[in-house]
Amino acid sequence: MRYDEGIKCGTDEAGIAHEWLVLTTFLQGFCLVVKCAKCGRHGVVRDPSAAEWSNAIGAATRPYGWHDDARVKILPPSPFAGKALRCQVWG
Ligand SMILES: [Zn+2]
Repeated sequence: MRYDEGIKCGTDEAGIAHEWLVLTTFLQGFCLVVKCAKCGRHGVVRDPSAAEWSNAIGAATRPYGWHDDARVKILPPSPFAGKALRCQVWG
């Protein structure tokens, strides 16, 4: 996947909504890990339902769209975000 650095999703300025894809689950924090297909930002979805959790287990090989923006907690941009994911850290 390529990401366009020029796209600033989720800002009033650009007025573009993030386009979240579920990537995987994060067991320690019991959350889903999502990534924006447009800007590459990571986010987490906490307290997934049992169905959401079991769907996401297969997402590593088949990422799928996530449309409940209100439940996405966007993580700070960081080249280490993928390794440093800790759902409970960001507020
Ligand atoms: Zn985005």
